[in-house]
Amino acid sequence: MLRRLARWLRAAGYDTTEARPGAPDRDLLAGSRAAGRLLLTCDRALLAHRDAPGTVVLIDGSGTLEHARNLARQVPIDWMRAPMTRCLICNAVLQPASPEQRAATPPGIQARGLPVTFCPTCEKLYWPGGHERRLRETLAQLCDPAT
Ligand SMILES: [Zn+2]
Repeated sequence: MLRRLARWLRAAGYDTTEARPGAPDRDLLAGSRAAGRLLLTCDRALLAHRDAPGTVVLIDGSGTLEHARNLARQVPIDWMRAPMTRCLICNAVLQPASPEQRAATPPGIQARGLPVTFCPTCEKLYWPGGHERRLRETLAQLCDPAT
């Protein structure tokens, strides 16, 4: 339910993983605490767990924008922390693409010499384009308290 929020957090540069579907609450809490992570959830029942304080953040609202606003009211979030430095799919830190990897991008990207990054885990390539621009616009919108 918070998959898009996780994606936006990764786009902002936050180390954000997703829980294994069906994982028992006790395991989620123990794993989060051991890793020093916050556990974002829409599941109010998780709050009742004795290990919840300081770890569980209950996200209210409908839709990703409301989820993001709700999160930022509870936890300091800098949506421009380090934009587009993590893989949106798997959370790995992106690296500059090698010349061989750059060769796999569309010719227009290569011709313009745009920065290309590479995910060392899932091997996805990232370059500036419409998708990245829209994500950056979303992050900028989240930074603006007037919206
Ligand atoms: Zn990846």
